[in-house]
Amino acid sequence: THTPVLGQIAFNNVTFTYEDTNITALKNVSFTVNKGETLAILGRTGSGKSTILSLISRLYDVDKGKITVDNENVEDLNLYDLRNSIGFVPQDAFLFSDTISNNIKFGKEEASHDEIVAVAQKSMVHNNIIGFNKQYETILGERGITLSGGQKQRVSIARAMIKDAPILLLDDCLSAVDTETEEAILNNLLEFCKDKTTIIVSHRVSSAKNADKIIILEDGEILQQGTHNQL
Ligand code: ATP
Repeated sequence: THTPVLGQIAFNNVTFTYEDTNITALKNVSFTVNKGETLAILGRTGSGKSTILSLISRLYDVDKGKITVDNENVEDLNLYDLRNSIGFVPQDAFLFSDTISNNIKFGKEEASHDEIVAVAQKSMVHNNIIGFNKQYETILGERGITLSGGQKQRVSIARAMIKDAPILLLDDCLSAVDTETEEAILNNLLEFCKDKTTIIVSHRVSSAKNADKIIILEDGEILQQGTHNQL
C-alpha cells in the first residue's frame, strides 16, 4: 500500500447508518471527483454532508457500497497513508494553546516563516495577525488571546493549506466569515487547489460558484447533481 497521490475519490452506492443512533445518514450515494476537480456539497443541516467527509477519512466504515481513493477501496488503504493524503478543515476549528505560528504549521513542522506567512495571506488572516503585538508569536487560547470565530476558521484553513496534501476537504469552514472575505478566500483556494481534489461542504450556495460539480443532498440522498449552470 502507498499514500494516495492522485486523490480521485469515488462513492459507489454508499449507505451508512450511525450505530449509536440508528440514523441512516447516507442512502445510495454515488459520485466521482477527479484529480484537480472541486465538488461542492450543498444541503440543509442534517442532510449528511459532514458524514460524506467523515467516511472519506474513514472515521467509520460504510454498511453498503464502496468508497475508493485512486481506485482503491479506502478499507484496503493504510489509515495513516490515507489521512496523510487529506487536508481537512473541520466545521469547528481546533486550535492549540500555543503560538499562531505553531498552530498554522501543525500540518508541516518543518515549514519556514515565509511559508507560514504565504498560507496566512491566502486564507486572509495575515492582516489580523500582524495587527497583534507579537504577531505570529502571539499565544492563543487559555494562556493567550481569543480569536474570533472567523479568524479561527481562517487559521484552520491556513493549516490545511500548508499540509499541501492531494485531497482537501472543507466542512462549512467559512460560515463565520462574511461573504466578501469568503469570496476572496475561495478565489485563493481555487488557485491553490488547481491540482488537488477538493470537496467544499456548505449551506451557502455562493460557495459552489466555482465548483466543477455540485451535489445537493436531502435526508442523506442526492437530490440533484450537476454543474452550476445545470442546476
Ligand atoms: P450540518 O450542516 O448541520 O453539519 P450535515 O449535512 O453535515 O449537517 P451530518 O452531520 O452528516 O449532516 O448528519 C447527518 C445525520 O446523521 C443527522 O441526522 C445527524 O443527527 C446524524 N449524525 C451525525 N453525526 C452523528 C454521530 N456521530 N452519531 C450519530 N448520529 C450522527
